[in-house]
Amino acid sequence: PGKRNIDLDEIKKGLLKGDRSTLARAITLIESNAPEHFEDAQQLLQLILPHSGSSVRLGISGVPGAGKSTFIESFGTYLCSLGHHVAVLAVDPSSSVGGGSILGDKTRMEELARNPKAFIRPSPSGGTLGGVHRKTRETIALCEAAGFDIILIETVGVGQSESIVRSMSDFFMLLVLTGAGDELQGMKKGIMELVDAIVVNKADGDNRPLALKTKAEYSRILHFLQPATKGWPAKAFACSALTGHGISELWEAIGDFMAMTKDSGVFEERRRSQSKEWMHSLIHDSLHNMFFKNGAIKDLLPLLENQVASGNKTVSKAVQECFEVFHGAIRNDDLN
Ligand code: GDP
Repeated sequence: PGKRNIDLDEIKKGLLKGDRSTLARAITLIESNAPEHFEDAQQLLQLILPHSGSSVRLGISGVPGAGKSTFIESFGTYLCSLGHHVAVLAVDPSSSVGGGSILGDKTRMEELARNPKAFIRPSPSGGTLGGVHRKTRETIALCEAAGFDIILIETVGVGQSESIVRSMSDFFMLLVLTGAGDELQGMKKGIMELVDAIVVNKADGDNRPLALKTKAEYSRILHFLQPATKGWPAKAFACSALTGHGISELWEAIGDFMAMTKDSGVFEERRRSQSKEWMHSLIHDSLHNMFFKNGAIKDLLPLLENQVASGNKTVSKAVQECFEVFHGAIRNDDLN
């Protein structure tokens, strides 16, 4: 392997011109798990920082089969037709475990993928969900610098992925199907409190009356919940990703949301606190890694676990000993 030869100014120039292959390359750099790429990636992000931030970030979740990719295809194509530049990203909780990642299969959004105003990127893979989180946030910044003014961030409703996507979105919506009664039974607790909108999809054909009924049901329930965004009571919509029916109304509502939250300062305040939260979660991840990857800790933990399990040592005492060893490692700069 020869010496790296990455011209960051060149990449920055390409990005600001909206050059797609440069954008793809820059994202690959961000996503790299190789330590030698980390420095370059961070330097690049610092360079483009003044050019990021000016997009609408929309989070979209829903169970498999809810119609997310069909919806994004339809919604994204509509937004492009209005003159917007749309980037589609994904946070896939399973990408850290196995190979199969959502959005990996571009044929899912064939029309949008061909649209010159759209850019689709599959979920980064490898590493922890925290790692996927970081890469997606940094990819958002790159896409913004490259001129994408609407970022769609897709996830499936598994584990923590919904709150992670919420934490990087301005507006967060959940795609659901008809049959509110059953759906609501199975719905994860807490998800309703994260959303700015619930979109009942597949409101077409014979299913339309039921979809409208379901929408009314959700409206009623949302009415009783604390809004996720101050001053914006979450709303329910019905749409058809297949026919496009209801999509423009949803976009209008997002426009109202943006105007309202920018006016009240809630938008800016959320962005600021999201950045702060993100910093804390990165610190948390780094500390966690530093601690559990430390050689001395790795040796010590099984011993302490046994002592605690057999009742020979209190948990607090064991933890205290762990940290004494860890402090020693930090002082000796022996953090491997
Ligand atoms: P995802 O798993 O959430 O990404 O869902 P998909 O977009 O793959 O959609 C799952 C299935 O539902 C596919 O067969 C779609 O064609 C179908 N589908 C998605 N949206 C609609 C819709 O608005 N109306 C109807 N009738 N079918 C839809």
